[in-house]
Amino acid sequence: MEKTPKRILLVEDEINLAKGLKFNLEREGYEVILADNGQSALEYWASEQFDMLILDLMLPKIGGIEVARKIREENIRFPILILSAKSTDEDRALGLEVGADDYIAKPFHLPELLLRVKGILRRRDWYGEAETEKDIFHFSDMWINFVTGKAMGMRGEIQLTARETQVMQLLVSRKEEPVSREELLQKVWGYISATETRTVDNFIVRLRKYFEKNPKKPKYILTVREKGYKFIRTFEKNG
Ligand code: CA
Repeated sequence: MEKTPKRILLVEDEINLAKGLKFNLEREGYEVILADNGQSALEYWASEQFDMLILDLMLPKIGGIEVARKIREENIRFPILILSAKSTDEDRALGLEVGADDYIAKPFHLPELLLRVKGILRRRDWYGEAETEKDIFHFSDMWINFVTGKAMGMRGEIQLTARETQVMQLLVSRKEEPVSREELLQKVWGYISATETRTVDNFIVRLRKYFEKNPKKPKYILTVREKGYKFIRTFEKNG
């Protein structure tokens, strides 16, 4: 039985490298769409279906980090392999922090790149199958799917953004211990500085609107003075 080929969006502005990669990926049986700047990458991504993204960092119009960030805001699990001449540890860390699945520095060896692509796509298949009840967190009569970001809130079913999902997941994972705003910023937004803690507060306000009957008197997402926020898993009815 013929399998549908995996579709890869390749974002690379060095045209010779791009063409060579496209040729070799196609020889492996993938279907490859080429975008030569960050903006057309985002347009392709929004309008067509792909299985993964290979993303250069230094790009015209919209840079690769920004592209990865935008995609992560919409889709928490879409596979991204960063391909870049920027090979310092800092850039690598930044790439992984915005949610890339893997990172390969230029110049790279073609067989290694092909292996990474294969690995990412295999993991994607595996996660797809593994998406089961264990990814769904229940509290009271609500739930959150930490993989897809779908949730049942106080006022019906909602789709959380990737960041909303990550904030909830981090709070829940602490089992009623408070998480500081700084840590939330660092882990969810990838900020190193602690100067933008209001961002976190705004997210908490939104999450309370989803999950609290009375957002001003929260029962689940609690403020802990001078410590941050914590999540309490109570099953008593919200009301
Ligand atoms: Ca480039």
